[in-house]
Amino acid sequence: MSEKLNVEAIFGQNLFTLSKMKERLPKNVYKEVVKVMDQGGELSMDTANVVAKAMKDWAVEHGATHFTHWFQPLTGITAEKHDAFVTHPDESGKMLTEFSGKELIKGEPDASSFPSGGLRATFEARGYTAWDITSPAFLKESACGTILCIPTAFCSYTGEALDKKTPLLRSMEALSEQALRIVRLFGNTEATKVVASVGPEQEYFLVDENLYMKRTDLMFAGRTLFGAPAPKGQEMEDHYFGVIRERVGAYMKDLNEELWKLGVTAKTQHNEVAPAQHELAPIYETANIAVDHNQIVMETMKRVAIEHGMRCLLHEKPYAGVNGSGKHDNWSITTDNGVNLLDPGETPNENIQFLLVLACIMKAVDTHADLLRQSASDVGNDHRLGANEAPPAIISIFLGEQLEDVVNQLIETGFATTVKEGGRLLTGVKTLPDFQKDATDRNRTSPFAFTGNKFEFRMVGSADSIASPNTTLNAIVAEAFCEAADRLEKEEDKEIAIHDLIKEYMTKHQRIIFNGNGYADEWVEEAKRRGLPNIKSMIEAADTLTTDKAVRLFEKFGIFTKVELESREEIIYETYAKTINIEALTMIDMAGKQIIPAVVKYTRMLADTVNAVKAAGVDASMQTELLRSVGEKLVSMQASYMELKKVEEQASSMENAKEQAFFYKDTVKKVMEELRVPADELEMIVDKEMWPIPTYGELMFEI
Ligand code: ADP
Ligand code: MG
Repeated sequence: MSEKLNVEAIFGQNLFTLSKMKERLPKNVYKEVVKVMDQGGELSMDTANVVAKAMKDWAVEHGATHFTHWFQPLTGITAEKHDAFVTHPDESGKMLTEFSGKELIKGEPDASSFPSGGLRATFEARGYTAWDITSPAFLKESACGTILCIPTAFCSYTGEALDKKTPLLRSMEALSEQALRIVRLFGNTEATKVVASVGPEQEYFLVDENLYMKRTDLMFAGRTLFGAPAPKGQEMEDHYFGVIRERVGAYMKDLNEELWKLGVTAKTQHNEVAPAQHELAPIYETANIAVDHNQIVMETMKRVAIEHGMRCLLHEKPYAGVNGSGKHDNWSITTDNGVNLLDPGETPNENIQFLLVLACIMKAVDTHADLLRQSASDVGNDHRLGANEAPPAIISIFLGEQLEDVVNQLIETGFATTVKEGGRLLTGVKTLPDFQKDATDRNRTSPFAFTGNKFEFRMVGSADSIASPNTTLNAIVAEAFCEAADRLEKEEDKEIAIHDLIKEYMTKHQRIIFNGNGYADEWVEEAKRRGLPNIKSMIEAADTLTTDKAVRLFEKFGIFTKVELESREEIIYETYAKTINIEALTMIDMAGKQIIPAVVKYTRMLADTVNAVKAAGVDASMQTELLRSVGEKLVSMQASYMELKKVEEQASSMENAKEQAFFYKDTVKKVMEELRVPADELEMIVDKEMWPIPTYGELMFEI
């Protein structure tokens, strides 16, 4: 049996929590910190010095040797530069560790090598990191030792956001401000802010390290670029929620332990649909902390996998033909006096505040479906959304039977007088309890599903930061709240005005509601008739960021400037081109150095066999036929291989980022697919002993 864990004892061990601050800080300092956390503003330098010293002492007691400003540049992953706590020794040679308030609050990493989309030329390399006091500092333990990590935002010298956290924090403030105006309409004078909460469900694959190391594509691209299907895939539906294998279980145990130490509430774990695919979900928390924690989860998943002789694949589509991985972004908004604005209660038809919020969300999602889709796009997710896998790239809202009925009543008559109830679930077994059903079944095919007291944005990619989806959600809903409040605050008779506005919004935006099967082809047709956008790829979604509508939205709430949006669009093209370039080069490498030579060897062996069999005076027609078939496929593979080399060179010499990205998508990717077809067919007929790379069967089942 493995060692027992005490969750209560280890939880938050490596986190500089409020309670630790309370223990270690003078009362007045602690009070100031809490005030800035709650209400914003700046710490005085004196206070910052005291906090820094306490934080450093705690860290050093726990073995920390360095600190880092931990930030989230536009690479989508995190960045850190370690500085030791060492200082100049005194005359006696003794060194006392030091960490100042200034070092805590502000950092100045060289920003020149992070993506900036033209925001900052390399000669203006200055960038600043600033402490996000609302996200607690933590200790990261790795082979480097123990590092004190301070979550920070990252901006350029001229104040433009160069990261994912800054706009997220800005969007949270905008949402809070506008949502407060909504609750004030209903007489809530107590709430002082409204918080967006997020719970991301993270899917991932595990693969044995020895096999991984033999797959250049997994190493460089994070996904397989070749590979014939295994005889068994996910068709038996025996992996989903199945018994967790011992090796995977040992991994999950260590992963949980590491996450709990960091104060990440890892809660749910299970096997997912595809073989070797799993999921971890933490308990939801404030959006910016959830975003930080999701980065920590992804990073820890990778690190712990290595300790277990495995690799963790976060790519959205590591294997063709079986399910890919996503990240369900559960999102809700709650006042600081405890009212979840997305909680309909028992009788949603009578909950006018909820209906107004719902009407605003319908308006927001319908108006900015393009932006929401964009926020969930990354290179890997192009394999899922609207491509080989559901959900489609079309944004729609699932409300469920009960709410849809309420909305329909409101649209038709202006009043919702009845509410459908869940009824009782009869098990038909005397010893089992019968129980009250939820009023609504689930819909696993909707990209944006209402699930009881939150929305589940199911489009997000598994490898992507969840900062952008939540920034976008916060922003579009803030705008809808703002427009509603602008109108309603002026009205004398609020009750009638609210009623009219709900009816108006719901009527105008009902096309965004879809409760049916989002994976069906008919839905694509139906969505087209409704005029809903269906944006097929990441780069086709990129310019939604810079439409007049988007610029107006983001500038109005100070979330992005036009220049920041333009730079982000540019980065999307660059990222896309670079990623496909790596994939193309990897395919060229594998085809040219591994697969083609192996098949050539095999044909040689077959040819020898044909000659030997013929010389023995026996019928060699079967061997000859096999040789002919292998030869044919080899010729076709060679042709695509040469073609890929050609178009790849053409692509990499292009100057304009947007044109280049589209060339990669429309031309290079096509040839990559063409090259894969004969290679995968060859894998099915070539002697397994001679096939140079591990097969899908091995990768997914030998764990
Ligand atoms: P599922 O059954 O779809 O997996 P769960 O109930 O397990 O859904 O929740 C999935 C995620 O949603 C978890 O991270 C959970 O903490 C989070 N979640 C639950 N309630 C809320 C809420 N009100 N706001 C945001 N996230 C929530
Ligand atoms: Mg879920």
